[in-house]
Amino acid sequence: MAGVGYWQRERIFFTQHKSQISPDIYVQDNAVPERQEEIKNIEEWPVMSGDVFGQIMARAGVATSTANAIYTAAQPVYDLAKINVGRSFFLNRDYETGDDYFLLYRLDTEDELVVCRSASSTSEGMDNSQERNWQARIRPIPYEVKIQTAHATVESSMYQAALDNDIDIRAIIALADAFGWEIDFALDPRAGDTFAFAYEARYLEGKFIMPGQVLGGVYNNAGERFEVYYFTEDEQNRGFYDENGHSAQRMFLKAPVAFKYISSGFTAGLRYIQAFNISTGHRAIDYAATLGTPVRAVGDGTVVLAAWEGSYGRKISIRHNGTYSTNYAHLSGFAVKRGDKVKQGQVIGYVGSTGLSTGPHLHYEMVKNGVKINPLKEVLPPGEPIKAENKDRFVAEINRWQELLNLE
Ligand SMILES: [Zn+2]
Repeated sequence: MAGVGYWQRERIFFTQHKSQISPDIYVQDNAVPERQEEIKNIEEWPVMSGDVFGQIMARAGVATSTANAIYTAAQPVYDLAKINVGRSFFLNRDYETGDDYFLLYRLDTEDELVVCRSASSTSEGMDNSQERNWQARIRPIPYEVKIQTAHATVESSMYQAALDNDIDIRAIIALADAFGWEIDFALDPRAGDTFAFAYEARYLEGKFIMPGQVLGGVYNNAGERFEVYYFTEDEQNRGFYDENGHSAQRMFLKAPVAFKYISSGFTAGLRYIQAFNISTGHRAIDYAATLGTPVRAVGDGTVVLAAWEGSYGRKISIRHNGTYSTNYAHLSGFAVKRGDKVKQGQVIGYVGSTGLSTGPHLHYEMVKNGVKINPLKEVLPPGEPIKAENKDRFVAEINRWQELLNLE
């Protein structure tokens, strides 16, 4: 009976949102070993406000000596003094013998703590050996992963298109992030744009938990097609690539505000987005965003200014290299200081309305060789290509995704 379905990571395939999926399309790239334990009865014990571990175990009817043994066994890998309200402990129990076989606690969306009593401890007799034989480890949560596809036409915004088509918002945010170096979802989307994508849907015990990795996606923007595919070159190198096998990652993100904060898209933009316009002298892009919205560095660099600067109010300047720098103005607050090294996507400050500003927005500038340029028009070199030895595998994989997404 070892390896009951609930504890296995399964390859299951189904369709949603009108697409067809062939059952052999998906290869698990991070297979999780099957669980060894025999499953008796799984009980869920939620962490309540003010709980400590011992209280929960007492409520669950676990003997104090057993609770202590579990706590001690977990100590080298996880401190059970740090538990969070809203999470749960799962106990596997044998109601016939009264044994507690193991305890499981999900640390986050990816990993779980498992404390098991080793098989050798099931000997008879009431000595303390069973208390000493608990072993703890942290392992990936063995989700069942199903492939899900979705597609939609954009009428007002990608966010709205997701809502209208019952597409999980978390999946749409992940998709927008995958296109983050190519598309500015505050400014680029147009009515009539279409998109399609495939992603992992994570289940436990047959219950949908959350979307996982985006696997492939296409966005047709005003007649131009963008594609991204998730690909694993090797243990160190995995990420999104375009259809030609170039890393989707570029020197700069398209937008200094993450999609999840500008999710109402261009309908909101009509209210308060000022474009780059040389004739009016507005050599910047203004993003409508609510007060306090996190602002991110579009690329790696060094903070050369984080201070009040006249009509710009609170302003940050980042020097990326000898050619480019970017400026972020009217901020309500700073998350970095002068001299800090920042990474692409790192939060550097918060949207405000300081200086000469009529309402909360981000004034974003890109400077190239001392001249303010339109960041949306700047053509950056393509990302790194995949290694030659991976090319065939890449082509085979993306062909399957293209087929699945009905791309010719
Ligand atoms: Zn402006």
